[in-house]
Amino acid sequence: MGKGFFQVPPAVNEPVKSYAPGSAEREEVLNTYKKMFSEHVEVPLYIGNKEIKTGNTSPINPPHDHKHEVGIYHTAEKSHVEEAIQVALDARSAWADLPWEQRAAVFLKAAELIAGPYRQKLNAATMIGQGKNIYQAEIDSACEIIDFLRFNVEYMTQIFEEQPESDSTAWNRVEHRPLEGFVYAITPFNFTAIAGNLPASAALMGNVVVWKPSDSQMYSANVLMEIFKEAGVPDGVINMVNGDPVMVTDTILSHPDFSGIHFTGSTHVFKSIWGKIGQNIHTYKTYPRIVGETGGKDFIVAHKSANPQVVATALVRGAFEYQGQKCSAASRAYISRSIWNDVKDLMIEDVNSFKIGSPEDMGNFINAVIHEGSFDKLVHYIERAKTSDEAEILVGGTYDKSKGWFVHPTVIETTNPKYETMETELFGPVLTVYVYEDENYEETLDLVDSTSEYALTGSIISTDRYAVALATKKLENCAGNFYINDKCTGAVVGRQPFGGARASGTNDKAGSKLNLLRWTSPRLIKETFDPPKDYRYPFLG
Ligand code: NAD
Repeated sequence: MGKGFFQVPPAVNEPVKSYAPGSAEREEVLNTYKKMFSEHVEVPLYIGNKEIKTGNTSPINPPHDHKHEVGIYHTAEKSHVEEAIQVALDARSAWADLPWEQRAAVFLKAAELIAGPYRQKLNAATMIGQGKNIYQAEIDSACEIIDFLRFNVEYMTQIFEEQPESDSTAWNRVEHRPLEGFVYAITPFNFTAIAGNLPASAALMGNVVVWKPSDSQMYSANVLMEIFKEAGVPDGVINMVNGDPVMVTDTILSHPDFSGIHFTGSTHVFKSIWGKIGQNIHTYKTYPRIVGETGGKDFIVAHKSANPQVVATALVRGAFEYQGQKCSAASRAYISRSIWNDVKDLMIEDVNSFKIGSPEDMGNFINAVIHEGSFDKLVHYIERAKTSDEAEILVGGTYDKSKGWFVHPTVIETTNPKYETMETELFGPVLTVYVYEDENYEETLDLVDSTSEYALTGSIISTDRYAVALATKKLENCAGNFYINDKCTGAVVGRQPFGGARASGTNDKAGSKLNLLRWTSPRLIKETFDPPKDYRYPFLG
């Protein structure tokens, strides 16, 4: 127990470095990148105090240079997953009983390590392994993960501070126990920050975790484990098992002590996991917490009052930064007829000005998509659009996989608002536009609401207050993060808590105390000072 009401350092957002030509950070990250690109890393499993090299390995290839190997990662057998669960459970009572300020200090230290000595190592690993340019890496693998770690500590103390009423006869106290058992974190390829936050947020609240990173994020996952260890996360608190997602998941979900899942990834995977949890419900000692942030089909609606330059910039940044591989990326747009020609010309000009290639060349705005599966999926939809009589490719539509998985940012115009690329999550640099008649604004909002199963992010761009108010009302349920006069990407921890509903997830808002509450099981303690000694109430006469 603590011996003081400690105040944590106020959380502030980590400033984004510029990496402008001549800056020290640019030189440092490029040197780190070059070194890491020419080395060969070997990523083990991290189970307790052991780094296990199973001998079953898969290669780590940069998406922009897929024949080059920067390392290998070892993959788990079922027995390793079972061992990771046991080791986590063995570590549980010491970690759960550790005073909260000790846990907080570990993760504040991790934030500081990333802000300082590990910043460029984590950025370079993200650039190489996940194909991000330096700006996309910096806002993810430096700033966002640092923000998650710092703000979550502050949110934890806010949760602890909130206490029930008491009076002189009885003292009511709430304590936030970690879940009874272990938490399973499954993370996607596209954000190093999410990969770090999903295990760390549950661990901060006193839980022990088995973490399975994405096969396509292994390089930066390994650096995160190095940081967690140096920050002082005790052995067994966060265990990393790599490999076959179905085997790992099935082994974990059939364990009686499984007490929660912290997932980010695609909708169909999350739904299959939810189904398995349902099937195993009689196995568990406690009802597992199910938290999942999943897919999106994020939209931008431009009203006739919008400035075409603002619309074009929101579309170009929102749809194409990190090759459209953000869950929040704009992938369908509804543009009013009277501004369309201007928006179209500006957007085509912007897209044609993009430089595409390796993240090492800092002039490149666009890099490769993550892997061959993604490349092939995007090519399939682009080729179909070329032959469809409902679609026309306005810019882009080319691709090349000889060296890296390069897909040119592509804008499709469709005459069918329910055309397949208006509805399906492609997760790449493809934006589909539907042009609506000015007088059909309200009906178009209904169309936006009813077109996709998702409800993650969306924007309205307009200078007409009535149009903004109408969109805010009519689109109430089709985005968990709704933006006015902005692009629909770029949520910042502490400012825009992130998450969506419908098929986009459980909307537990990563980077807020709502999320942390899912990793505790509150216990109410009522202490009565002078307990009654007679069962008879006064009304009995
Ligand atoms: P993915 O679903 O392919 O993989 C996510 C994780 O699940 C990986 O660790 C993967 O190995 C694992 N996995 C894959 N198949 C599995 C199975 N059958 N059983 C158990 N685990 C399995 O997603 P991805 O390609 O890594 O990431 C892109 C997806 O993530 C997109 O749909 C995107 O919208 C979504 N995403 C959502 C958010 C959000 O906050 N809503 C954030 C980032 C990404």
